[in-house]
Amino acid sequence: MSEKTIFKKIIDREVPADIVFEDEICLAFKDVNPQAPVHILIIPKKEIASTDKLSAEDAELLCHIYTVVLPYLVSEFALSGGYRLVTNCGNNGGQTVYHLHFHLLGGRFMGWPPG
Ligand code: AMP
Repeated sequence: MSEKTIFKKIIDREVPADIVFEDEICLAFKDVNPQAPVHILIIPKKEIASTDKLSAEDAELLCHIYTVVLPYLVSEFALSGGYRLVTNCGNNGGQTVYHLHFHLLGGRFMGWPPG
């Protein structure tokens, strides 16, 4: 069996995190190395390595993130003025943790293009 990712360890409460949302499908917690005043990671509890491992059966999970978790966090962290939701995929995408996650960044103006 392959080793647990750090995010799976957070789900299993083997590693502490500053958790800001949890339900049966998802977990959201503050990024340990924030790149903006608000930097939250939203992850599914289901172990999916990255966006290129998603399948049609994950449609409900993705919808849940966008329509339940995200609006909750936008309200809770006062991001109605705008925010950025980022998913890095693979080596060239800058992904370092191979458990699907969405970076929710806000609290400052976001430049474009990203680095
Ligand atoms: P990525 O590079 O897109 O895979 O993003 C991984 C993110 O996880 C980075 O922004 C890290 O700062 C963050 N991270 C790594 N370990 C932890 C941890 N134990 N708690 C919170 N965030 C973490």
